Amino acid sequence: MSKKLNIGIIGAGYASLSTACYLAHAGHQVTMFEKNDSIGGRSRQLKAKGFTFDMGPTWYWMPDVFDRFFEDMGKKTIDYYDLHRTDPAYRVVFGKEDFMDMPTDPEALIALFEAEEKGAGEALRKFLKKAEDNYNIAMKDLVYQPGLSPMELVSWKTISKLSLFIKTISSDVRSRFKSHKLISILEFPVLFLGAKPSDTPAFYNFMNYADMSLGTWHPKGGMFSVVQAMEKVALENGVSICTSANVEAIQVNDSGAAKGILVDGETVEFDVVISGADYAHSESLLPEKYRVYSKKFWESRTYAPSALLFYVGLDKKLKNILHHTLFFDTSFEEHARAIYDSPDWPKEPMFYASFPSQTDDFLAPEGHEACIFLIPIAPGLEDTEEIREKFFHMIMGRLKELTGEETDGHIVFKQSYCLKDFVKDYNSFKGNAYGLANTLMQTAFLRPSIVSKKVKDLYFTGQLTVPGPGVPPSLISGKIVADKVIADHSNYYRYASNL
Ligand SMILES: Cc1cc2nc3c(=O)[nH]c(=O)nc-3n(C[C@H](O)[C@H](O)[C@H](O)COP(=O)(O)OP(=O)(O)OC[C@H]3O[C@@H](n4cnc5c(N)ncnc54)[C@H](O)[C@@H]3O)c2cc1C
Repeated sequence: MSKKLNIGIIGAGYASLSTACYLAHAGHQVTMFEKNDSIGGRSRQLKAKGFTFDMGPTWYWMPDVFDRFFEDMGKKTIDYYDLHRTDPAYRVVFGKEDFMDMPTDPEALIALFEAEEKGAGEALRKFLKKAEDNYNIAMKDLVYQPGLSPMELVSWKTISKLSLFIKTISSDVRSRFKSHKLISILEFPVLFLGAKPSDTPAFYNFMNYADMSLGTWHPKGGMFSVVQAMEKVALENGVSICTSANVEAIQVNDSGAAKGILVDGETVEFDVVISGADYAHSESLLPEKYRVYSKKFWESRTYAPSALLFYVGLDKKLKNILHHTLFFDTSFEEHARAIYDSPDWPKEPMFYASFPSQTDDFLAPEGHEACIFLIPIAPGLEDTEEIREKFFHMIMGRLKELTGEETDGHIVFKQSYCLKDFVKDYNSFKGNAYGLANTLMQTAFLRPSIVSKKVKDLYFTGQLTVPGPGVPPSLISGKIVADKVIADHSNYYRYASNL
C-alpha cells in the first residue's frame, strides 16, 4: 500500500474544509487547526436568546457546486441537509410601497420585466440564454482551473467570448435595458464578485443565470448547516479538527520546504502545509524572506467590500418584507463611490436585510423574528461604537419609512459586527469581509497563487486566491488545491510505495 501524506491545514472555513475533505477522501492523513472555538470561519453561527443567526453568508446560490462537492465524496446533498427554494427569491425595495419581488417561474419573471419596460421581457430571455452559455463555460472550462498559467484560459469557447472580457457588465446591461429598476436588479448579482459592475467583465453575467435560473435556496437551519455537513464529511473521512488552535508560524526546513506549524507554542510536523486563513496573514506566519507578496502588494489590491452587520431579535413577526430584502432606494453609484473610489462611510447606504425566520421556524422563538442587516462598506475605515449606532438608527428609520415596520420597543437581542471584528476573529487584512474583488486584473492567474513560489510543499486556499469570493468559489478553491497537492506528490507515492 502506498504511503500517504501527512497534511496540516490552517483554518476551518469552507475552503479549508473542502480541501480537507478532498485530501482525506483520497486517503491522506489530514489535521485542521482553527483559531476560533467554532469552525466555519466567516460562516459561523451566533445563537442567543432563542435566535439563531448566520454571521456571514445567507444566500445559497449555485446549488450545482454544492451538489458536486457531495457527489465527489460519494454522497448527496440531501444526505446532509434539506434545501428549500425561496419563492419569490427576494424583494428589491425602490421606495415606499415601491418594490419588485423576483418570481422563480421563468415566464412570470419575463412578464415582470415586460410590465416594467416594453420589450424588456424578450431582452431578458436573450440575456439569460447568453448568461447560461457563459455559466456553462465558466463551470466547465474556467473556475476549476488552478490559476497557474494564462494558457488555462485559452480554448475555442473562451476565445469566442473575448469581447465579453473587454465589455463590462454595466455597459452590457445598459445596452439592453433602460429602466433603472431592471438595471439595479441585473447589476446586483455582481456584488457577490466584490467589484463595481462598471469594473466587472460582461462575461460574469453568468451570475444572472445563477440568480434567476438556478435560484436562491435556504438550507434548513441556515447556512451553518452546510458547515456542519462538511464537518461531518470531514470526520467520516478521518480528518482531525482542532478548534481554539491558533497557528503562530509556518516552519520551513533547510531545503526551503514547509515542514510544520507552530500551534499555541508547540511544533507539529507535516509533509504538506495548506493555509485557508486570509492570504496576507498566512504569509506573515513565514520568515520574511519566504513571503512572496509584500505589504505594498496587499495595499494596492482592490478588495471586495467589508460590511457593517447587525444581528437583531424582535419580539414580533414582520410583514411587508421577504426572507431576502434588498433596500435599493438610494443611489447605488454614490454608495459604490464610497466603497471603491474615495473610501468613506456612505452617506445614504443601500442595505440588505435577511429575515430567515420568515422561512425557517427553527431560527427564532414562536412569534419572534430573527433579522440580519448588512451595509456594504470599504475595508480599512474607522470603526467605532458611535458610528455603528448611527448607522443602525439610520437603517431602522428607513425600514420603518419604506415598509411601515416599527422595530423600536421590540428589540430583545442586538449585536453588531464590523471591521474590527473581522480583523480580530479572522486575521483579515484591513477587515475585509469577502476577500479580493474579481476585477479583470484580479482574475484567474492574476490572483495570489495557490502554490507558494518560495516555499516547497506550502499551498493556499480560500477566497483570496482562485477562483474568488463566495461560498461556492471557496468550495471550488478547496478542490483545486487538493488536486494540485495530489498531482505534485504523485512521484512521492510511487517512491513511497516501493519502500
Ligand atoms: C457578512 C458576509 C456575508 C456573506 N454573504 C455571502 C453569501 O450570501 N453567499 C456567499 O456565497 N458568500 C457570502 N459571503 C462570502 C463567503 O462567506 C466567503 O467567501 C467564504 O466564507 C470564505 O471562506 P474561506 O474558507 O475562504 O475563509 P474563512 O471563512 O475566513 O476561513 C478562514 C479561517 O481561518 C481561520 N484562521 C485565520 N488565521 C488563523 C490562524 N493563525 N490559525 C488558525 N486559524 C486561523 C479563521 O478563523 C477562519 O475560520 C459572505 C461573507 C461575509 C463576511
